[in-house]
Amino acid sequence: MIPEEQAIEIVLSAAQRLDSEEVPAGDAAGRALAEAVVSDIDMPPFHKAAMDGFAVRSEDLLHSPATLRVVGEIPAGVFPEFSVGPGEAARIMTGAPMPEGADAVQMVEKTSGYDGSTVEIYKSVAPREHVCLKGEDLTAGQEVLATGRAVGPAEIGILASVGHSSVRVYRAPEVAIFATGDELVAPEERPKRGHIRNSNSSILSALVRAAGGRPREMGIVRDEIDSLRQAGREGLTANMLLVSGGVSAGQYDLVAQVLDSLGVRILFHRVAIKPGKPLLFGAKNGTLIFGLPGNPVSGLVTFRLFVEPAIRTMMGLRSASMTRLAGILDEDLQKKPDRTWYMPARIRSQDGELRVKVLDTHGSADLGGFALGNAMLVAPRKVSLIPAGSEVTILVGGDFAD
Ligand code: AMP
Ligand code: MG
Repeated sequence: MIPEEQAIEIVLSAAQRLDSEEVPAGDAAGRALAEAVVSDIDMPPFHKAAMDGFAVRSEDLLHSPATLRVVGEIPAGVFPEFSVGPGEAARIMTGAPMPEGADAVQMVEKTSGYDGSTVEIYKSVAPREHVCLKGEDLTAGQEVLATGRAVGPAEIGILASVGHSSVRVYRAPEVAIFATGDELVAPEERPKRGHIRNSNSSILSALVRAAGGRPREMGIVRDEIDSLRQAGREGLTANMLLVSGGVSAGQYDLVAQVLDSLGVRILFHRVAIKPGKPLLFGAKNGTLIFGLPGNPVSGLVTFRLFVEPAIRTMMGLRSASMTRLAGILDEDLQKKPDRTWYMPARIRSQDGELRVKVLDTHGSADLGGFALGNAMLVAPRKVSLIPAGSEVTILVGGDFAD
């Protein structure tokens, strides 16, 4: 059994970033850029009105109010072919190009009496007021997104504005998933005596998808050497293999032995956490293999702590998606000083403090209890009592945020 800090280090050093692929820019959300993106144009591409109003020469309004002759109207999308001379103005709409000669815009609210030929402007403007200057956001040839940048909606907008309809990103790992257990039946079946439904395959697929990976569901595999070998061999063709169950100390927990016989280097088996102690991790030819405990909550917790950082590293993203925060514990918390405990909690803001309430659950199979939380409390390994009012560490983010 190794401490979790050592386990995460082993996982992260085994996880290699995958190679890259070109995808349509609109599909790049959640991925990391494998190229720097450069703008092909100035932004804005021309001096642009920032307000609906009148394009003016600011020197004409040194003494206001002033009546100016209106020489034209400029809607957005039309480049003006005329210029504005002394004593003149042009009616202009937000986003329209500034006419030659004008250096500022006065907003329509500061004017009156526009009759198609003259307008009274009763407040002066500074040069460049209400004008976005050509190239003030970025200039042609400028790097707008660096390699490694995670793509979200704003980045997709930037890609569109600089003319990138496709972009190079790091590949998302394919993750093979199978659930082991003679007691398992598919969710659509009604369990007979001694059987339970396979919920882990669904949980793990959803977690893989949410982390950015591509799940390949392989169904249920019996606790029997040949079937496990066959499934293991097939699963090892993916970038990552998740095996649910069969890694504890029972007589039918055959996963470690089978993986070993397939040439998988077992890098650790058992971590000092609760839930999730039986976690197994190995590697073969760049494929990472996790043997996750069969209890659904244990699988969920170990996925968030170890599998998700590995998937994100393979995708070239920052490994942590959860945020570590400090909060104040509501009630005394008792634990054994054996392992780091991860407990479902609800956090709330109260009197300027983040208050943390640990939720009651019926243990590692109680998904319902866990699902009610919006955070995970991290109770340190060697501690046996955390008194109410103590500062505690919590993890929020992903499916732990409301
Ligand atoms: P194991 O890790 O194989 O010893 O299983 C631990 C516990 O988790 C047992 O109570 C199993 O019945 C349960 N379990 C194992 N696999 C699954 C699964 N795919 N879906 C739901 N529960 C499971
Ligand atoms: Mg089992």
